[in-house]
Amino acid sequence: MNAAPTPCATSMRGVLGGANRRRIRGVSIWTPLAGALLLAACSSDPRSSSSTILTSPTTAGPASKILVVTYTTGFRHSSIPTAETTLETLGRTSGLFTVTFCRTGDDVRRDLSPAGLASVDAVVFANTTGNLGIPDMGAFLGWISAGHGFAGMHSASDTYHDEPRYLEMLGNEFLTHGDQATVDAVVENSDHPAVSPLGSRFRIFDEIYMFTRANRGSVTMLLSLDRRPADGLPGAGQSADLPLAWAKSYGQGRAFYSALGHREDVWENPLYQQHVLGGLRWILKR
Ligand SMILES: [Zn+2]
Repeated sequence: MNAAPTPCATSMRGVLGGANRRRIRGVSIWTPLAGALLLAACSSDPRSSSSTILTSPTTAGPASKILVVTYTTGFRHSSIPTAETTLETLGRTSGLFTVTFCRTGDDVRRDLSPAGLASVDAVVFANTTGNLGIPDMGAFLGWISAGHGFAGMHSASDTYHDEPRYLEMLGNEFLTHGDQATVDAVVENSDHPAVSPLGSRFRIFDEIYMFTRANRGSVTMLLSLDRRPADGLPGAGQSADLPLAWAKSYGQGRAFYSALGHREDVWENPLYQQHVLGGLRWILKR
């Protein structure tokens, strides 16, 4: 599948009205000008944070093993190298886990096979997109439900639109997004390790996902929006109940998802890093 850019990197203003989902996902409106504007916007953004990686107390016991999957067959985020570095550093500084990377289709066929999964404790889909070519989806999901961990970051919900079983495990499906925006996410279930460092609200500038359905009844909600973001889509500022991050049991296993993580400076944000680290600690049951 050709990795043609999708709307992830640019505005959906004017595209949403009357468009169907397939059109929204498949339209290619990337241009060199849009890219230049995006880069300019990113590099001049005063909200860019330092690359400091906060550490947490070293966890007793041997480090868990996490497979970080960054293969894409759709849009490919420029933040993927930053995501990889952040996850590796979080594991090393916390002492909680070590990472190996799964970056190509061949890697997926090897590492996400039953034999490959036998050597890891959890899998993170870090900004994956599209159908990744997992050789046996039933076996992969069975491995999670047997007691292992899964974490999906940002476009992990823009992955496997053709596989309802994956989307059910994840807990929802990406629909669309507008312009990048600052949101004040509501922290829910604040005793959960993925959000306990965040206070009652988490202010962040990122690309904000909309999902195909409300999922409050089937997950432990961790971050939500109580109003529509000012992202150029209709209804900005209006009251709403929009999911943004959640956790859920999956058989004997655990799944964690956060829609945040489009931008490099989000991955470099110390509070976001604590959000991710807490989510990984939870799926690892540590
Ligand atoms: Zn994105």
